[in-house]
Amino acid sequence: MLLIFGFKSYASVLAMLRVPCPQGHELAAQRLTRVRRRFTLFWVPLVPAGTRYQLDCTWCGLQRRLDEREADELQRRG
Ligand SMILES: [Zn+2]
Repeated sequence: MLLIFGFKSYASVLAMLRVPCPQGHELAAQRLTRVRRRFTLFWVPLVPAGTRYQLDCTWCGLQRRLDEREADELQRRG
């Protein structure tokens, strides 16, 4: 029997924020994104396989990974 399995990621933008970038330039728009990963069987997403948060600078393109607490705090500050 042939089993086809894998992972698929679903990204959603949670907020656009104006916060300082660690690259050293001034305030720039940062995109806060949540990426949820699912285990798939025959292309059907079945089981959650992790969530990560990232902040992308729209000025320089720097991507930073955040933990859930940091992402929540940034969203609250807006
Ligand atoms: Zn930047």
